[in-house]
Amino acid sequence: MDKKVSRVELEYGLRSLRRKRMFLWVMIGIYLPMIWIVIDISGSDKITGIYFGFWLVFVTIAANVTAFARCPSCKNLFHMNGVFPMYFRNCLHCGLHISGEENKNKFE
Ligand SMILES: [Zn+2]
Repeated sequence: MDKKVSRVELEYGLRSLRRKRMFLWVMIGIYLPMIWIVIDISGSDKITGIYFGFWLVFVTIAANVTAFARCPSCKNLFHMNGVFPMYFRNCLHCGLHISGEENKNKFE
């Protein structure tokens, strides 16, 4: 791990990363309940379609923001090593774990 990065910086960066990931999981998680509730209340395919459209926009934003988030340790893209993002819990470059717990880091 790069020793130039302080513990405080690392924690700060990881906290921001965790927030982005959490937002993405929440967006994915609310999909089914949201669709069920909207169909149930509105009974309309058109209104459900509009909600789906909004959801798709938000989830796309969340996926992109998370995919392009940088690792606080090595400054590379935490979830991307190549073209497709992979939302693992370790940095794909330096192996830093999302929790910041050193015993969970990879490649060390
Ligand atoms: Zn890294």
